[in-house]
Amino acid sequence: MPVKVKIDRSKCVVAHFCLFYAPTVFIPGDGGKPVISPEYASGGMEEGYVPEELYDQVKEAERHCPSRAIKVYRE
Ligand code: SF4
Repeated sequence: MPVKVKIDRSKCVVAHFCLFYAPTVFIPGDGGKPVISPEYASGGMEEGYVPEELYDQVKEAERHCPSRAIKVYRE
């Protein structure tokens, strides 16, 4: 089942926990705000799909994001 990841960059406060917990998925973009890395992005830089083996990492990023800018769910 694909794991969908979304970042709401308008909510992001550039705390960079996401880059720490899932460094292959979240990379710094404009102004240091993260984007989904090109490898996983789909339909823009703010959303994409990651393989199941990265689920725990992106869930940790979601849990630690202080502004709740990250959403992770299975489709
Ligand atoms: S953890 Fe949340 S607030 Fe921090 S950089 Fe990532 S998306 Fe932005």
